[in-house]
Amino acid sequence: MEIILAKYGEIALKGLNKRKFEDKLVQNTRAALPTPERFVLNYNQSTLYVRPKDEEADVAAAYAAIKRVFGISAVQRCLLLPKDMQVICDFAPDYLRDCLINARTFKVEARRADKRFPLNSPQIQTELGDTLVTAFPHLKADMTHPEVTIRAEIRESAAYLSAAREKGAGGIPVGSSGQALLLLSGGFDSPVAAYLSAKRGLTIEALHFQSPPYTSERALEKVKSLCAALTPYCGHITLHAVLLTKLQETLRDNAPSELFTVLLRRQMLFIANDVCKAGKSRALVTGECVGQVASQTLGAIQCTDDAAAYPVFRPVIGFDKIEITNLARQIGTFGISELPYEDCCTIFTPKHPKTNPHLDEVLAAEQRFDYAPLRKEAYDGIQRFDF
Ligand code: ATP
Ligand code: MG
Repeated sequence: MEIILAKYGEIALKGLNKRKFEDKLVQNTRAALPTPERFVLNYNQSTLYVRPKDEEADVAAAYAAIKRVFGISAVQRCLLLPKDMQVICDFAPDYLRDCLINARTFKVEARRADKRFPLNSPQIQTELGDTLVTAFPHLKADMTHPEVTIRAEIRESAAYLSAAREKGAGGIPVGSSGQALLLLSGGFDSPVAAYLSAKRGLTIEALHFQSPPYTSERALEKVKSLCAALTPYCGHITLHAVLLTKLQETLRDNAPSELFTVLLRRQMLFIANDVCKAGKSRALVTGECVGQVASQTLGAIQCTDDAAAYPVFRPVIGFDKIEITNLARQIGTFGISELPYEDCCTIFTPKHPKTNPHLDEVLAAEQRFDYAPLRKEAYDGIQRFDF
């Protein structure tokens, strides 16, 4: 039978809270499996064991899903065998064929936890190594830089044979750091910010602003696709969609045009505050990156932060655009973000926005009109979608 072993990363180092993190990890891993009912999960000594209940269970699909679960530093598939060297050598060539057929060099690493096993680790390595070279004569043993490392572990319960340990998603389990509200546009940056926040254990809910008819229905569809694409990493996501049209038109007609963008962003944050207050999120996450565009100068950021009632996290602050798009490709959001639908932030934008607005002038402009009823209307009309 083939099973999956997932090694914890950071949570292996947690002290008294470790149990809580482990339970969260098991819960998240189970939720990530395409067919959870076909597997049994349990943990022991910083390793999570995912065992199929029967031959029908799709181990390859489970493995692919587990690679995207935060909190796991390495994953490997293993063949579970009786503790009998002859049986191990009989099954090894067939099981390891796919990974050895194209490799030039390999080594066997053996560990014998059960000291009653008649062969010691070097003997296991030699015997299994010889078997594999006989089966795949093109292979050369290389103890220092092998292309493939085969692992044979003799544990109390059984022998485990595995190849190709792969890196897991890293980070800590989603939900172990609380919940944050992501301001999700259709761009490249905010989905990557979601991924990075989830990696640090934050559960994500998303807030998207749209301004029909200036923005199209397809812009909302795009954001829904982004949420769906993020769930393998972030787990369940609730998307709140807000209609911003009236607020935006009112700002266009009443506020000084050079402050339009920063005033709009403050309104977005006021609404975000209300969503947090009504739910469980205790921080905001954006895809902002200092210096990228006019609304991302220190002055503009100070003015928007002033409207936030919760800490604002900007996980991509240290990234270049190229690093962000590379990560977007890796996590599968690039192809969606690339679709060309207009974002509400790019409509009515003034020709000459003030690049470094002062908080005093922004507050003064904001106080000249009562935007609260429009905000309430927008908030009351929020549509919610679950992913
Ligand atoms: P992104 O690639 O994430 O769209 P950007 O580089 O285009 O970012 P801006 O358009 O200035 O930059 O937006 C900065 C941040 O503001 C976004 O990363 C996102 O967090 C938030 N934001 C922008 N537009 C919206 C929107 N329509 N709904 C929700 N949040 C938004
Ligand atoms: Mg954008």
